[in-house]
Amino acid sequence: MKCSFCSTEIEKGTGKMYVKMDGKIFYFCSSKCEKNQLKLKRNPVKTGWVAKKKKEKA
Ligand SMILES: [Zn+2]
Repeated sequence: MKCSFCSTEIEKGTGKMYVKMDGKIFYFCSSKCEKNQLKLKRNPVKTGWVAKKKKEKA
């Protein structure tokens, strides 16, 4: 499998698997990649227009 962030091939038994609440699975070769992916990939709930849309609906 490949690192979801830097696309480095991850050897079996190494790296980390992260399952998001929505069922998406990420693989990370290191905690550095994990941090970058989770930090840089914005959570839609926290993204302005998505939150706005939800507010309008409510
Ligand atoms: Zn990586």
